[in-house]
Amino acid sequence: MKVTNAEIVISAVSSKQYPGDQLPEIALAGRSNVGKSSFINKMINRKNLARTSSKPGKTQTLNFYKINEAFYFVDVPGYGYAKVSKKEREAWGRMIEQYFTERSNLQVATLITDIRHEPTADDVRMYNFLKHYELPVIVIATKVDKISKNKRVNHLQRAIKKMDLEAEDLIIPFSSETGEGKDDAWKAIQGFISR
Ligand code: GDP
Repeated sequence: MKVTNAEIVISAVSSKQYPGDQLPEIALAGRSNVGKSSFINKMINRKNLARTSSKPGKTQTLNFYKINEAFYFVDVPGYGYAKVSKKEREAWGRMIEQYFTERSNLQVATLITDIRHEPTADDVRMYNFLKHYELPVIVIATKVDKISKNKRVNHLQRAIKKMDLEAEDLIIPFSSETGEGKDDAWKAIQGFISR
């Protein structure tokens, strides 16, 4: 995929603000600090368009990035940030539930996990949440540059097992540092936007 244009169109907190053009959307979910912004930036060849997200005190928003005037990446604010208050967590839950319930042009969800570690309870919950909405999921096991080659297969299998990944879903080792996995990730995503 050659990305020629990428821009943030809106940071939305409710469905009234979602873009109206009905282009296909790819949701991007992941724990805070897992490497989601780095993933987005790497995929669209930008150093800093998606900035480090969801720090405490910042409004949590759904960020819509329009790519090549053809589809959107929708950055779902990171979950599992310990310092977020109960009230903020509830608002986050309502916001993402509204999005996943109402958005018919959502084609696929990408779940970013850290290949170094076994998926956390939050990762598993998010995967199940996405499957509850009957979405195909592409798991991006990022930071693959941080483990040795001989550990990869084991770590991938451990993640597949822990999340109980369905057969239709993919898991792709990725590195925002080296760009490894980028072509595979685009190939997987493109399969859903050209349908
Ligand atoms: P976010 O909160 O999920 O958006 O996480 P960020 O994209 O801000 O990344 C969190 C930290 O992990 C930053 O210090 C990144 O530089 C680092 N990071 C993200 N992806 C990778 C990767 O693939 N490899 C390495 N080595 N570091 C990464």
